[in-house]
Amino acid sequence: MDKKQTEITKRIKVFGMIQGVGFRPLVFRLAKKYGIKGTVRNMGGIVEIMVQAQERSVADFLKELSGVEWEDYEIVHMQMEDVQEAEYGDFHIIKSGGDGEVSIIPPDLPVCRKCGKELEEITDRRFRNPFISCTSCGPRYTIMECLPYDRHTTSMKDFPMCSACKEEYTDPESRRFHAQTISCNSCGPYAILEKLTDRKAMEKAVEILKAGGILAVKGIGGYHFACSPMGEETVMNLRRLKGREEKPFAVMFENMESVEEYCYVSKEERQLLESKARPIVLLYTKGKSMAEATNRGGIYCGAFLPYTALQILLTKACGPLIMTSANLSGKPILKEDNKIQEFKSPYLNGILYHKRRIIRSVDDSVAKVIDHKPQLIRRSRGYVPYPVFLPRGSKDVGIFAAGGDLKAAFCLYKKGSAVVSQYFGDLEEKAVLEEYKASYADLSRLLNITPDLAVCDLHPNYHSTLYAKTLPVPVLSVQHHHAHIASVMAEHDLKGPVIGVAFDGTGYGSDGNIWGGEFLVCEGPEFIRAAHLSYTPMLGGDSSMRDGKKTAACFLLKAGLYGEIRDDRRDLIKAAVDNHINTVLSSSMGRLFDAVASILAVCKENRYEGECAAMLEKEAVLAVRNHVKPKKLTFAIHQKCGIIEIDPKPVLQSICRIKDTAGRGSLALGFHYGVAGAVLEVCEIIREKQMVNTVALSGGVFQNTVLTERVLKLLRKKGFMVYVNMAVPPNDGSVSLGQVFIGLMKQEAKRQR
Ligand code: ZN
Ligand code: ZN
Ligand code: FE
Repeated sequence: MDKKQTEITKRIKVFGMIQGVGFRPLVFRLAKKYGIKGTVRNMGGIVEIMVQAQERSVADFLKELSGVEWEDYEIVHMQMEDVQEAEYGDFHIIKSGGDGEVSIIPPDLPVCRKCGKELEEITDRRFRNPFISCTSCGPRYTIMECLPYDRHTTSMKDFPMCSACKEEYTDPESRRFHAQTISCNSCGPYAILEKLTDRKAMEKAVEILKAGGILAVKGIGGYHFACSPMGEETVMNLRRLKGREEKPFAVMFENMESVEEYCYVSKEERQLLESKARPIVLLYTKGKSMAEATNRGGIYCGAFLPYTALQILLTKACGPLIMTSANLSGKPILKEDNKIQEFKSPYLNGILYHKRRIIRSVDDSVAKVIDHKPQLIRRSRGYVPYPVFLPRGSKDVGIFAAGGDLKAAFCLYKKGSAVVSQYFGDLEEKAVLEEYKASYADLSRLLNITPDLAVCDLHPNYHSTLYAKTLPVPVLSVQHHHAHIASVMAEHDLKGPVIGVAFDGTGYGSDGNIWGGEFLVCEGPEFIRAAHLSYTPMLGGDSSMRDGKKTAACFLLKAGLYGEIRDDRRDLIKAAVDNHINTVLSSSMGRLFDAVASILAVCKENRYEGECAAMLEKEAVLAVRNHVKPKKLTFAIHQKCGIIEIDPKPVLQSICRIKDTAGRGSLALGFHYGVAGAVLEVCEIIREKQMVNTVALSGGVFQNTVLTERVLKLLRKKGFMVYVNMAVPPNDGSVSLGQVFIGLMKQEAKRQR
């Protein structure tokens, strides 16, 4: 039989995180191994493989390709078709092509194990090279100008390869075959500090840091300010440098052993620390020997491991280092060399940088472990722009979802891929808003998504809302807490009905009031408000969330506890509330946490977002640790015109009555458990009435470990199926994903009508 006749030709399209991680070279090697002819190329965000060989060889090839243990990529699915093609003579990696598919752009990757080893090898060409990388590691998203990902489309194009690098780059057997970030000690970018370069610059940097100085250090998605976390004066200087920022600072540790000296680390936390995204992980501190100014008495230390070779070298030489985004408090992170050089401050002792341009700024991500699973708090470097895959319907609609204004992040959707942007911060800050807009232009171009629909928050004055309305497409407004719950539905492919519990600081309600302690029964694109925390008239409305004392006064007034208000402005506040001057009605659970923190004298002001709640959680954590029994605190739950109200009055009364005799810890813990108890009670009432057994939790309040784990435990014990956010944070970082999902479901509903 003619050998040719038994040969088959297939076109295979591979979807997944496969660009910029050495996938094509892997395909090339496997093709050679099985004697397959054909081609492989990037096409937009997918990889197209043409294979021509005997059926058996093709089967073996596919089996190995889909089964291979490869730490650096993730195949989402493969599409195959038989084709009649011209004959191939050999197997080649060919020039990238493109068609309308949604691109999958790899996030930035940390130094891999093999490169880490070479870094220490004195005989290696890349011994102590701060920019060592290979096909499995190095920056991606932050150096990419456009797709497809190739040397000449990244900021590495400024560095011509030396002959040794070129050889590796073109050698199929090399780990750096087609490694677009390839560089070495003789050709790549090099470290610069003032007039010093290379090893001398690194030595000087170490000297400054060891002497208690502060350095600006160029990273992956922007500059960091780096200094020792041990010296009180040094860290205070860093706070002065950043414009009196009060947030705890993240600390980068050389390795796991070093982390464990200062923090408690569970198995899951270790996995998260070592994961590809290398996020900042909030760990309980052991309370050991760091400066007070570093984490401001917080119970958590934001710990992370180095992800660039430059950071490995610095932490190895200096020990733990504060690595905080180089920006003024509230402003975007600095990424340009000239901007950092213009940044004049007596507290900045030097700039360690290099000439590889950062194309887009991306902050470090922040995460913690709750219920033994990772929970994101800030989704940025390492996660962005990897999509959340939504069930692919018939629709082929492009969507831009604007998100919210606090912790802003937008989302772009097309063909089953929802790409949530990096975290920007508060859009009230003009520079942040500019960055947000520029990033929309950038990412929609990169992903080749032109929206047919925009979705935004119901809040008429949100900057994100106003921006969405400037786009030349129809705009859909979505209630804030509905979007929170829809983000959980999107992640877990829930069509509803679900009982959505959305607890956060603030969101514009459908009735024009401020919502934030909501139980919404969600089904398809619709929701019904089933229950909420009782309304409390709040003074100063939306903008005065900083002042925990004033918030407490408002709650106490509503609960008829005027005599318990410890605030000089007591009468003023009462008069304003009585006369409805500058007041709004709020059902915010976040504000109730602030109030209780203030009443218990745990924390009276949110110097940064969520400080009061974090300090209250700390008291609860310490109570658990010291086996303190929680005081039983119970909310009053009653029904008014078909809607359930959760009244904190009895809780506040008990707290005021016994706060001087009962310990703070037992009250703080009791409050957390009381809120969880109320969640269970309300969910049970709704279940009985509406036969819904599925619960989705979202909103920034659920970043609280004590509360969330308690709620999960109580609900699961009573047989509820409970879902939480996994791929996006529960805070307002989830809003844009939820908006996309509601937009999609609305489209689907329209089609079915
Ligand atoms: Zn590597
Ligand atoms: Zn080189
Ligand atoms: Fe929210």
